[in-house]
Amino acid sequence: PDVVNKIAAGEIIVAPVHALKELIENAVDAGSTSLEILVKDGGLKMLQITDNGGGIEKDDLEILCVRHTTSKISTFEDLSSIATYGFRGEALASISHIAHLTVTTKTKESSVAWRAHYLDGKLAPAKPGQSAEPKAVAGRQGTQITVEDLFFNVPTRRRAFRSYADEFNKIIDMAGRYAIHCRGVGFTCKKAGEATNTLSIQAQATVIDRIRQIHGSNVANELIEITASDDRWGFSANGHVTNANYHIKKTTLLLFINHRCVESTSMKKALEQTYSSFLPKGGHPFIYLSLEIDPARVDVNVHPTKREVHFLNEEEILQVICKSIETELAKVDA
Ligand code: ADP
Ligand code: MG
Repeated sequence: PDVVNKIAAGEIIVAPVHALKELIENAVDAGSTSLEILVKDGGLKMLQITDNGGGIEKDDLEILCVRHTTSKISTFEDLSSIATYGFRGEALASISHIAHLTVTTKTKESSVAWRAHYLDGKLAPAKPGQSAEPKAVAGRQGTQITVEDLFFNVPTRRRAFRSYADEFNKIIDMAGRYAIHCRGVGFTCKKAGEATNTLSIQAQATVIDRIRQIHGSNVANELIEITASDDRWGFSANGHVTNANYHIKKTTLLLFINHRCVESTSMKKALEQTYSSFLPKGGHPFIYLSLEIDPARVDVNVHPTKREVHFLNEEEILQVICKSIETELAKVDA
């Protein structure tokens, strides 16, 4: 069974960035306003994320890494909202099967922080011979998750990584996406041992400031705000997209559906089509879009490694969004 778990986990978490995405979502879900990411060797040696959110109850630590039995699933309503996000209590469990996982956490009510180590879904001792029970330590409110030696027990996967720099770039890209989307949350990301942050966004920064800091003024100065919604298809969208004065060689699409960063080839195609009549040949836009869709209409049954998402009335929804962008582009153009 551990072999099966290991294989399943290795399909959900294919690269360090996939672990990071899950850890960011958990930290944001916990109501954090500050998120610090530390990376060693492209996340393969270590990936650590420290938040100031609600923390985890000591009593929940024992089952934290057991599949599908997370503390969050306490009411029936929660089940449908969890289903939206695709993983349903599998992230930490998966990570514990392919890495050494350490969790240090403190709730507001607790007088101490608790530290627990995990392996293969279960509490594990920090060192052989020690107790596996969570240990009381000093700490601030919030949670720190440390993932070490990712794929230490999956040598074929570990050998597939070409460079730490590539993995770090993917991490910075993903952290940057969430840093733009999660207003009210401060983000930092740095390599272990380096003095300066590669990414640093203040909690109070506006969305335009966030885009400016991550993608530069050239983009930020040419943004138009767009909104679209239609009750018939159960969605609303808002975002910031570049106008007809701006273009780059490749489309940058930051797409969030129900606050999860996803990919959608059909959406990208539709948007490129819309822009093609406003931009010179070979020119492409920067697009940040956040969609909220009735969770019952989002298909979560796609393979986790394909991050591609589908939802009901996709074509109709794309049409409404593209129409709204077209109207704005035409205004600025005139
Ligand atoms: P899911 O997020 O789908 O429930 P995860 O394995 O990602 O599954 O997380 C399991 C549970 O652990 C979460 O539901 C949450 O209760 C708790 N948890 C994980 N990370 C954090 C965090 N940073 N702060 C507070 N609680 C957390
Ligand atoms: Mg999660």
